[in-house]
Amino acid sequence: MVKRVFEKPLSLMERVLFLDFMKGLSITIRQAFKRTITTHYPYEKLKPPKRFRGFFGHKVINGKEPQPAFTEWVERFKIAVEPGKSRCVVCLLCKRACPVPQLFEIEGEKLPDGKRRVSIFNMNMMLCTFCGFCVDACPVDCLFQSDIHETASYSRKDAVLDLSTLEKIGKDWQNRREDEPDRIWADDNARMRLWYENSPKLG
Ligand code: SF4
Ligand code: SF4
Repeated sequence: MVKRVFEKPLSLMERVLFLDFMKGLSITIRQAFKRTITTHYPYEKLKPPKRFRGFFGHKVINGKEPQPAFTEWVERFKIAVEPGKSRCVVCLLCKRACPVPQLFEIEGEKLPDGKRRVSIFNMNMMLCTFCGFCVDACPVDCLFQSDIHETASYSRKDAVLDLSTLEKIGKDWQNRREDEPDRIWADDNARMRLWYENSPKLG
């Protein structure tokens, strides 16, 4: 047999003074005067942490390459070392690690002196899941994910990152953030601003 549940009827006082409505309104008013935990994006933008996994870039040769891995791979594949250019040694490990390898188009070219360098490196961001496998696979810390998170574009063509764009993103990120300490949050003020109000009150 189905048990019927009836709502408790409102008392005369509750009906006359709109007590339920007033209770709800009091919560709204209390919250309206509390410190906000949101930002007024796009007018107010937080600086993402250094480890943020945003748009991709190629770090360029600037003397801070991981050693001895970089030198070993350069010698193994006879790569030309050109300061200010991509660190890529055309090993294709990023493409092999990617669950959607067809988003990569990578080619190398031979120079007159017999050395090689990367000539084509396209990444189609429309197919990318931002899983980061390709970054983990790169043996020379070339391919990385930057702090760029505004990635919308007006055309499909703009969603393909080519070699010069990747190098540009890499150079810019290296100038701004390469020497910054590796930490989850960009700065304590941003962290406190966002999370202090929500942190558990212990003791
Ligand atoms: S982040 Fe993942 S899906 Fe995107 S290119 Fe790298 S490995 Fe492929
Ligand atoms: S794994 Fe790194 S070095 Fe190898 S092809 Fe990809 S970006 Fe270049």
